[in-house]
Amino acid sequence: MSALRARIDVVGSCNADWTVRVARLARPGETVLGGDLERRGGGKGANQAAAAARLGARARLLAAVGADDLGQWLTSDLEALDVDVSAIQRSPRPTGVALITLDELGENEIVVAPGANGDLDLAAVDLNSSDVLLASMEVPASVVDDAVRRARRAVLNVAPVREVDPETLSRCGVVIANEHEVIGLDVNALEHVIVTEGARGAVHLSRGRVVTRARPPMVESVDTVGAGDVFCAAYALRWARGESSDEALRYAVVAGALATLGEGARGALPTDGEVRQWLERV
Ligand code: ADP
Repeated sequence: MSALRARIDVVGSCNADWTVRVARLARPGETVLGGDLERRGGGKGANQAAAAARLGARARLLAAVGADDLGQWLTSDLEALDVDVSAIQRSPRPTGVALITLDELGENEIVVAPGANGDLDLAAVDLNSSDVLLASMEVPASVVDDAVRRARRAVLNVAPVREVDPETLSRCGVVIANEHEVIGLDVNALEHVIVTEGARGAVHLSRGRVVTRARPPMVESVDTVGAGDVFCAAYALRWARGESSDEALRYAVVAGALATLGEGARGALPTDGEVRQWLERV
């Protein structure tokens, strides 16, 4: 691996998140008026690639968007965040969109139209040029299975909850899940599972036994959406560098915590320098 910048391939979704804030969520058949539409780049793959780039990696996003204005906008947005967008594919289907309504209590309703994400096809893409491949489950499972098989080292974020081929899981160097996602995993069968536990941090399990645990710093969280994506990018990068699980976990929980300091999934992506500063303090 280059001594300077780690290279990471991120396989996953690329969506536009359209959010409207409402006083209360609509009941079936009802219309409610909300605030102005907020449009942000989202999707777990795109968020993880943006987080990795911000942490200093050469991050290539392997995703599919539509041949439409939205796809163009998402791609330009990621390019401005220093993500390598050269392998983003254009599908005849519309760009993936998440329609989100958010009420005053923070309760939400989300409908996802995956569109182009369903067309991702990596058969012709060389997956051997990166130090690590990070995949998540908002793209077809067969694409993830194949990418994990072909990558030199793979980290799988089993989010959102989906059934995953046990062989794919066992081929991954590390599997990352949050407290909900881990319920469906047979952790006793897996060598390295990281479970993120929100404000309580994260734990590394090996065949079901706790190897190490890390707690994040106490921060004034504004929005925890996307914290898990930053955590995954941070952990994958440190792991690819050959750091001990202890070090990688401590780094990733700080990165995840700092990501909660701004609104939206990409509102507070931390730099490597910022994470290190916090690590020196604790
Ligand atoms: P997900 O977003 O996938 O559900 P988690 O909520 O478990 O993931 O968060 C991932 C990581 O982000 C945690 O391990 C932790 O480091 C950090 N994090 C999340 N919420 C908080 C919080 N309220 N305070 C501090 N750190 C947090």
